[in-house]
Amino acid sequence: MKSIQWVAPRKFEVVEKAIPELKKNDVLLKVESVGICGSDIHYYLEGRIGDQVITPPLVLGHELSGRIVRVKDKENELLLGKRVAVEPGFPCWHCEFCKKGHYNVCPNLKFLGGPGCDGALMEYISVPGWACFPVPEDLSAPIASMVEPTAVAVHALELAQMVPGETALVVGLGSIGLIVLQLLLNSGASVVAGIDLLEYRTVVAQKLGLKNAFVPSNKESIEESVEWAKEVSSGRGFDVVFDCTNQSEGLAISTCSTKPAGRVVLVGISGKDYDLLPVSIARRRELTLKWCRRFLFNFPTAITLVSSGKISLDLILTHHFTPEEVETAFEMVANNSDNIIKASIDWD
Ligand SMILES: [Zn+2]
Ligand SMILES: [Zn+2]
Repeated sequence: MKSIQWVAPRKFEVVEKAIPELKKNDVLLKVESVGICGSDIHYYLEGRIGDQVITPPLVLGHELSGRIVRVKDKENELLLGKRVAVEPGFPCWHCEFCKKGHYNVCPNLKFLGGPGCDGALMEYISVPGWACFPVPEDLSAPIASMVEPTAVAVHALELAQMVPGETALVVGLGSIGLIVLQLLLNSGASVVAGIDLLEYRTVVAQKLGLKNAFVPSNKESIEESVEWAKEVSSGRGFDVVFDCTNQSEGLAISTCSTKPAGRVVLVGISGKDYDLLPVSIARRRELTLKWCRRFLFNFPTAITLVSSGKISLDLILTHHFTPEEVETAFEMVANNSDNIIKASIDWD
């Protein structure tokens, strides 16, 4: 089978590998579609996200869907032939944090396409049966690969503990931001606002129902966005602000735009070891900052939201590529070319 390995910054290589053997409880998937995530771009360009360093060769990709073509154990037999979305993190289930239910922060967790663990950019992959969530047959494989970022957005909303009537701001309208936005528009929030540096993303946000969108004219300016947020929230600040950017400035804008005693949910990954935090404002306003680590049993909800049409992914999944075009795909996502938001690599 073909496997696409990251071998150096901005460079992939296609190699032939044997189809994986199944260990106990594993199932074999014929990979159908792999979405490119902001975190993949950090690895592609720099080989690291903060202190998480990958060593080549490594197969990237953790947003995947595929069809189950082989199972080893009886309890997974019902999965055979099903199209599934795969939860890409495999915790140990034995440590203190797993036992307390926080399996997403398990220190022993293996993550597809992360340090020391090959990801999904290959024809076949073996994963634990429990990590496979069947999707309705009419959900296309590329859309099914977006169950993963949807699960992240669902977890972010969970952490925000929104109450009906509250106001919310989304900073960064990439794929996660645009899903968070839709969840907010569905949730009874009284005011929803969004900021992005790229105008085409605010246009998509508006098509999805956003009324208050802002594109700062000076891309370097934190103040311009904060001023706008202040105005839209009638000088008060937002009850909840979601940082869904991949920039340090996103956290600063989010913190400065939150009302006194409000909540900031940090979802985006700036890739830095240390980041900008306006501590004086955060302390004076006694803000709560919640850090979102991927997802915590949010795949079933994400699948329901996507398949019921409550969350629309068609305007977000803008580009499709073949496995041969993988470098082009990563370059385009890295450079935000051609109004790209989410791209998927589709095997068939
Ligand atoms: Zn991702
Ligand atoms: Zn654990």
